[in-house]
Amino acid sequence: MSFAEEAKSDVPTLPGTHSGIPTYLLEKARKAKEGIFEGRTKPQNERQKLPVVPQGIERDEFLKALAELKSQLGDEHIEINDKPLRDGWYMEHPNTHDSMTILDEEEFVASAIVYPGSTEEVQQIVHWANKHRVPIFPISMGRNLGYGGAAPRVRGSVTVDLGKRMNKILDINPEDYTCLVEPGVSFYALYEALKEKGLEEHMWIDTPDLGGGSVIGNTVDRGVGYTPYGDHWAMHSGLEVVLPMGEVIRTGMGALPGNNTWQAFPYGFGPYSDGIFSQSNYGIVTKMGMTLMPNPGGYEAFMYTFAKDEDLEQLMEIIRPLRISNILENVAQVRHVTQSLAAIGQPRTRFYSGTGPVPQEVIHAAAAQTPLGDHSWAYYGMAYGPSHIRAHKLALIDQEFKRIPGARRIDPATLPEDEYFWARERVARGVPDIHELRWVNWAPNGAHIAFSPVSPIRGRDAMKLFALGKRIHEQYGIDFFPAFCVGLREMHLIVEIVFDRADAEQKARALGCLRDLVDQAAREGYGEYRTHLVLMDQVAGTYSWNDGALMKFNERLKDALDPNGILAPGRCGIWPKRYRGRGWEMTRESGGQSEGDGVESA
Ligand code: ADP
Repeated sequence: MSFAEEAKSDVPTLPGTHSGIPTYLLEKARKAKEGIFEGRTKPQNERQKLPVVPQGIERDEFLKALAELKSQLGDEHIEINDKPLRDGWYMEHPNTHDSMTILDEEEFVASAIVYPGSTEEVQQIVHWANKHRVPIFPISMGRNLGYGGAAPRVRGSVTVDLGKRMNKILDINPEDYTCLVEPGVSFYALYEALKEKGLEEHMWIDTPDLGGGSVIGNTVDRGVGYTPYGDHWAMHSGLEVVLPMGEVIRTGMGALPGNNTWQAFPYGFGPYSDGIFSQSNYGIVTKMGMTLMPNPGGYEAFMYTFAKDEDLEQLMEIIRPLRISNILENVAQVRHVTQSLAAIGQPRTRFYSGTGPVPQEVIHAAAAQTPLGDHSWAYYGMAYGPSHIRAHKLALIDQEFKRIPGARRIDPATLPEDEYFWARERVARGVPDIHELRWVNWAPNGAHIAFSPVSPIRGRDAMKLFALGKRIHEQYGIDFFPAFCVGLREMHLIVEIVFDRADAEQKARALGCLRDLVDQAAREGYGEYRTHLVLMDQVAGTYSWNDGALMKFNERLKDALDPNGILAPGRCGIWPKRYRGRGWEMTRESGGQSEGDGVESA
C-alpha cells in the first residue's frame, strides 16, 4: 500500500478486525488518523537482503527452518518480513518493528511473524524454536507504544503474534465479576462484549488511557488504568502459560482439575508463580483471568487546577493521606500544563517557532486561552458511589485542595465536549477512549518514549523528580511533559519525551536525555516501573543491590526454564546464557547498536 493509500484507507473496526476500533469511537479515530498523517513527512524505507537473519543460525538453514514451520502451521500463518517497513499509526500498527523507533528502524526488527491459532500451536512454535535455536518474541496486540511497540529486542527474532487468531473472550461471569481472555482481546473488545451482553452497566473494565492494547499484554507488562482497579497485575487471577521448553501450566486454582475458582482466587497452593511471568521472558501467556469492577452505583468526575509549579509539594502532601484512606479512590493524574497544552493535538510550532523547550511564559499565555484557563498543574479525579457518599468525599477533597492558595475547582459543565477532561472521565468509569494519542502531534512524525520512575507520594520527592526532570530536559533542549499517576502508596511519574522519528539529531538527543534521567534518578533512589526495549539493560542495571543479586537470580531462573535461550532474549535485561558476555546489553556506550557479537553455538 502506498503512503497516500494508507493515509486514505478507513480505520478498521471491531468486530471485523480483532484490533479494530469500536464504532462509537470511529469518527474520533478517523480525525486522529487525519491529524497524524498530516504531520507525516517520513518516507517509507527501502530494504535489501531480507529477511534479517538472527545471529546463531546460517541464512539457508534459517530459511529451511521457516519453510518447516510453514508446513506445520500452514503457509498463510507465517509472514516473512521482507517488505518496506510501514509505520502505520495507533489503530493500524505494524507487528514487524518499533514504529516509534529511537534507533535506526532496522535495529529492533523481526525476521518473520507467526500467527498461532491455539495453545497447542504455541507449543509447536516453541518446540520449533528450540530445535533450530531461533529467538522468538511473543506479543499479544503489539501496541506497547512508547515501550517498543511490537518489536523484538533481538534483531531478526521471529515474532509470535498471538492476538490475530487467539482473540476469544472465553468467559464473562457476571456473578463473580470476572472474565477469562485470550491474548488478542483488547480493552475495546472487552467493553464491546459487555455491551453486547447488556452488562456494561453491571460491571466495569479498567482501561488504560488508550483502549487498543491487549488486556493480557498490558497486564503482563504491569500497565495501569484509572478506576479503583487500576493496578492490572494485582487484579488478574490465573494464567495459562506455555513455558520455553513447550510444557503448558495453569497457575493458581487452574492447577486443580475441575476447579471452579480459577478467576476468583489467584494463589492456589504452593509458591505464587504468576509473578515470574510479568516483565520477564519466562513464558508465553495464552489465557488470563481478570476481575471486573461492580458498578459502584454512581460516579462524578472532578478536576482542580493549581497555579504554580511549586504547589506540587503541598498538593502531594494533601493527596497522600486522602489516597491511602481511599477518599481519593482512583489512580488519578496530576498533569503539568505543558502536556495539557500538547493534548490539544496541535504541533508545537503553533505555539512557538524557536528551538529548545517552549518558554513557560508562552505555555502559560496559551493555557490562559483554553477552557481550563492558566494553571501549572491539573488534578483529574473521580468520586464513586451513590450521591450522598460522593458528596461526603467531595466536600472533604474540596476543603483539603482549597488549602492551596489559587486552587480552583473547574465546573465540568463549563467544559466543551471534546475537552480532555471528558476523556479522563470516560476512562475513570471504564469506557475506553482514543483521546490520549493527541499529544504525539507535538512533533512531526511524532514518536514517544516514557521515563517512568516510582516515587513515594510525598511533596519533597515530587519536587525533587520535577526539578531533576526539568533540568535534564533543559540541558537537552526538550519539552518536559510530567504527569504523576497516583497509586495507593506510591506514584509513577510518567514523562513522555516526544520526538520526530525522522530526525536523527532529535532521536540522539531524546535518547541521551532518557539515559541521563534513568541514571540520575536511580542515584536519588528512584527506579523505573517499566521501560522501553532500548533502556531495559540500563534500568535492570539500576536494580543492583547486593552485587546484582536479583539479576543473578533472574538469570538462574532463565537458564533453568529456557536452556536454549530462545524466548525473548534480553527482554527486561534478562539475557540467557547463550548471549551473556558477548556485548548484547545496550548502554550509553553501545550507542545505537542493539546487537552483540554472536551467540554460543548449539
Ligand atoms: P499491548 O498491545 O497490550 O500494549 P503488547 O502485546 O505489545 O501489549 O505486549 C507488551 C509486551 O508484553 C510485549 O512486548 C511482550 O514482551 C510482552 N507480552 C505480551 N503478550 C505476552 C504474552 N501473551 N506472553 C508473554 N509475554 C507477552
